[in-house]
Amino acid sequence: MKFKTLCRTYSKVEKISGKIEMVEILSETLCNANADEIGKIALLTLGKIYPNYVGIELMLAESMTIKALSITTGKSTSNIKQILEQKGDLGSITYKLLSKKTQTTLSSFTGETEYAPEILEVWSFFDKLAKLTGEGSSNKKINLLAGMLSRVSAIEAKYIVRIVSSKLRLGIATQLLLEALALAKTGNRDNKDILEKAYNRCSDIEYVAETLYKGGIEKVKEIDIRVFSPVKVMLAQRLSSSEEILEKFGEKCAVEYKYDGIRAQIHVKDNIVKIFSRNNENITYQFPDVQNEIIKAAKKQNFIVEGEIVAYDEKNNKILPFQSISRRKRKHDIEEKAQEIPVRVFLFDVLFANNCSTLNKLYLERRKLLKELVNETETIRFSHQTIVSSVDELETFFNSALEDNCEGIMVKSINQDSIYQAGARGWLWVKYKADYVDKLSDSFDLVIIGADYGKGKRTGKYGTFLLACFDTEEGNFKTFTRVATGFSDKDLDFFYQKLSNIKLNNKPKEVVSEIECSVWFEPKIVIEVTGAEITISQLHTCARGWLKGLNDGLALRFPRFTGRIVEDKNPEDATTVNEIVTIFLNQKGES
Ligand code: ATP
Repeated sequence: MKFKTLCRTYSKVEKISGKIEMVEILSETLCNANADEIGKIALLTLGKIYPNYVGIELMLAESMTIKALSITTGKSTSNIKQILEQKGDLGSITYKLLSKKTQTTLSSFTGETEYAPEILEVWSFFDKLAKLTGEGSSNKKINLLAGMLSRVSAIEAKYIVRIVSSKLRLGIATQLLLEALALAKTGNRDNKDILEKAYNRCSDIEYVAETLYKGGIEKVKEIDIRVFSPVKVMLAQRLSSSEEILEKFGEKCAVEYKYDGIRAQIHVKDNIVKIFSRNNENITYQFPDVQNEIIKAAKKQNFIVEGEIVAYDEKNNKILPFQSISRRKRKHDIEEKAQEIPVRVFLFDVLFANNCSTLNKLYLERRKLLKELVNETETIRFSHQTIVSSVDELETFFNSALEDNCEGIMVKSINQDSIYQAGARGWLWVKYKADYVDKLSDSFDLVIIGADYGKGKRTGKYGTFLLACFDTEEGNFKTFTRVATGFSDKDLDFFYQKLSNIKLNNKPKEVVSEIECSVWFEPKIVIEVTGAEITISQLHTCARGWLKGLNDGLALRFPRFTGRIVEDKNPEDATTVNEIVTIFLNQKGES
C-alpha cells in the first residue's frame, strides 16, 4: 500500500470525532493492507515505529525538523518559527508550504521526480532516522529528512513531519485501532476483545496485527506471553472498610503489604534481565543493582515475576517513601545513585515459569511457584503476606503495614477464579489504603489538558490547570476539576517548561470540555491530585449522563496537587470515569 493512501485516511479521520465513524473509515483502508505491511501500519497509526518496550524512539527535536523544512522549502528557519508561533502545528505548516510549490520546483532541489513511497519504504526511512547516532548524526538526520520531504507530496510530508515530531494526533488510541483491525479483517468489531486480550499478553500491536492478517482470529487467540515482551499489568479495585472487603471476598482472602514504590515486571532469560514499568517501558537501565541481585537470587531461568521496588534506609531498616525511589529515575550517574539510594524489591507475583504462562494458575499456586523460582536475599524479598478470615485479622495486618511504612494493603482473592487478569482492573485484587480510612478522598491520577495564566507571583506562568479523567467507553478525556493549589514555585516553573512543548492552539479532539482555557495541551502528563469530596457539577463533563435522573457531571472539590507526577502512567491509564462514579456512589453510601 502507498503511504499516500494511508495519509489520505489519516486526513479524513482527523476531521471527525465520532468513534464509530473513525473506526469505519480506518478499517476501510486496513482492509486493503497485506499481512507484511499491516504491523507497520498499526505502529505508524499510533505514531510509533516500534512498540514502547523496545525503547527506540523517533522524536526529532523541533529545531531539527524546522531546519529540514527550511532546506526543502527555501524559507528561513526564523520565518518558519514565526508561522509556527501562530499556527502551532508543524505538520499543517509543512502541508501549506509544500502545497504552494509545484512539484517541478520541489524536484529542482534534488533533481529527482516525485515518488510515492510504499508504507514499508517510509517505515524503513523512519527506522534509519531513529537509529542514526553519534557524531554528526543531527546534521545527517536533518539532511535525510529534507531529502525525503523534497521528494514526496504535501500530504505525505505533513504526516512524515508529524510522525518524526511525535505529534501525529489523529485521536486514534490503541483500543480504537484494535476495533478497526477487527472490523477490517473479520467483519465484526466485537472481535476487538480477542485482539485486546492478546495485546494485553504481549504489548505488541505489530505482532497482534500481523498474526491476525496471517493466521486469522484463531491464531490471535493463541498469542501467548513471551519473555522480554511486557505483559499488561493486573490492577485493583478499591474499598474503604474491612467489613466491605470481607463481604466481597467471602470467608477468606490473602492480604499483602501495599508498598509505595515503582512497579517492576522483571523478565529473566539466560542471565539477561529486563525490567519493565507499569506502562511497559523498559526501565532496566535505572536498576543495575536489581539486575545483579535478581541473577544471584534466581533458582531457575526463563521467567517473569512482578514486584514493587522501594527505596530502603539500610541503617534504620525501614522502607522510604515514594519520593526517595523517584530520584532513581534518571539517565546519568546511575551507579552513583544506586549506591546513594539502595532499594529492596518485594516480589508479589509470577507470570511465566517453566516455559509456560502462569496467568491461568490460581493465586496460591502462583505464590508457591514464586518461591520455587527465586531465593530471598537481602535485596530481593517476597511481599509480606498472610491469609485472613476476620475483620480483626485484616485490621491488625493493615495496621502493621502502616507501621512498616507501607501505604496500605492489597487484598487478593484465593478462590477458584483467582487468575492473573492481564490489563484488567477487576475485583480479584482490592486496594485498601490509609487515605480511605482517614475519610479523605483517595488520590486521583489526572491528565493536564489545559491551563490559565497566573496572576501576582504567578504572572508569566500557568496558575490554574484543567484536569481530566479517562472515559474508557468513549476513548476520550472528560474534565473533572481545576487545580491551583499544592504547587511550589519550582513546580510551576517545571510545568511551564514541560507543558510549553505540548501546547496546542485549539482544544484537542479527544477532550470533551465545556470549560474554556487560555492554553490547551496534548493529553500527555498525568499528575496526582487529592480532594475533599466528589460533587455533582454542571460545569464538568466527567460522568455526564451516567447517573440516573441527572444530566450533570461530577467534579472534585478542593483539589490539591500532591507533588507527584505519575510518570509510569500513560494518559489512558489515568483514573477512569468508571472509578470516579464508584467512589462517588460509595461516598453517598449507594451501591
Ligand atoms: P495506586 O495509584 O493506588 O498505586 P494504581 O492505579 O497505580 O494505583 P492499582 O492497581 O490501583 O494501581 O494499585 C496497585 C498498585 O500497587 C500496583 O500497580 C503496584 O504498583 C502497587 N503494589 C504495591 N504492593 C503491591 C502488592 N503486594 N501487590 C500488588 N500490587 C502492589
